[in-house]
Amino acid sequence: MSLATYKKKRNFSQTPEPAESKKEAWQSRFVVQKHRASQLHYDFRLESGGVLKSWAVPKGPSPNPSVKRLAMAVEDHPLAYADFEGVITEGEYGGGTVMVWDRGTFKPENGDVESALKKGELKITLRGKKLKGSWVLVRTRGRQWLLIKHRDRYASDVDIALSAPTSVVTKRTLAEIAEDEGGDVRKAASGDPPGIPRRTRVLRRKGRRRAVWGAESSE
Ligand code: MN
Repeated sequence: MSLATYKKKRNFSQTPEPAESKKEAWQSRFVVQKHRASQLHYDFRLESGGVLKSWAVPKGPSPNPSVKRLAMAVEDHPLAYADFEGVITEGEYGGGTVMVWDRGTFKPENGDVESALKKGELKITLRGKKLKGSWVLVRTRGRQWLLIKHRDRYASDVDIALSAPTSVVTKRTLAEIAEDEGGDVRKAASGDPPGIPRRTRVLRRKGRRRAVWGAESSE
């Protein structure tokens, strides 16, 4: 899946063979799903080898390079999972509300993803809506990894879990997703930052639910 070996064997200033295109370098997807299951966590998933390699990050990614976030390796997920936002039935595995908290594409920085993961250190550049720039996943022991931001122009000491708490796809809070999809609203709301504005009502228009913010809509 990776072109690391192809690139390593060639000097593209000397050979007329094609190098990796920019588009190819950024073709792999990543997603971070905020998941209010038995405990709130953020599922960090990277496309590799036709699956989503996955870690559960209890506190979520931090753009602060001095903050190391525990990331527990969990089972690979199918690629289609990257688009899942909704409610997993209570009592089922992972029961609770899932939000697409961030997504985009990434580029591996140290060879191909599979071999970097085997070595226990994967450096990646993320191009998401919330997460950007260079990051590293380092294995400490067993399934325990650390997710750390590298120092670059995207490093920041902002608490991004609080400053950017909603879905990048639908702008909804966890409580709103639970409300729309028949989940446990109270439980989901406990994963939203305290004091976050609540949607006041939901209008139905053209068969689709549409969120309206504020006291009164002019329409
Ligand atoms: Mn999860």
